[in-house]
Amino acid sequence: MSVEKKRVLVLDATVAYSGYDPFMVSEEQYTTSKIMSEIKKNSKLAIAVNLGVVKIRDPSENVVREIIEMVKNHCEEPNLSDADISVLALAYEFSKEGANALIISDDYSLQNMAKILGLKISRYGRPFIRHILYRVKICEKCKRKYSPDYPGKTCEICGGRILSKVVKRVKVYEKSSQGN
Ligand SMILES: [Zn+2]
Repeated sequence: MSVEKKRVLVLDATVAYSGYDPFMVSEEQYTTSKIMSEIKKNSKLAIAVNLGVVKIRDPSENVVREIIEMVKNHCEEPNLSDADISVLALAYEFSKEGANALIISDDYSLQNMAKILGLKISRYGRPFIRHILYRVKICEKCKRKYSPDYPGKTCEICGGRILSKVVKRVKVYEKSSQGN
């Protein structure tokens, strides 16, 4: 069952104010009109929607009803807004269509309910994190440092061999993660 499914991200309102950057993501991204009514027009998410980077799609009423029923069955007083429900329903609808849907949210209640309903959810948006390594060049003998673009192979001072050394690892979100 390891067939590659289409991966779609469903963005919650918390995305608008978190460190999540829709412009750094290569997957299809969706949010709902209920979420749009909750966020400010100048938020990163609203701008991404205006530029077509994030699409708006609303789940069908049937799926929304289905989700509300499921939530009721699992929780006496779910602390979920209509917008939260719309996010769960949209992710559920995508899953039904055979896509690999991932909800992006920092909202604790939403995270909880998504897990109960068997929907994938992530706080950070991108599980595909890699590291950028920052390097310096350094002389093996006298330890004099050179910039990474120093073209020489030997030290200007002592003639020692120049080594490339990792000084810093920085996490970055990969721009493109999907196999082409
Ligand atoms: Zn040297």
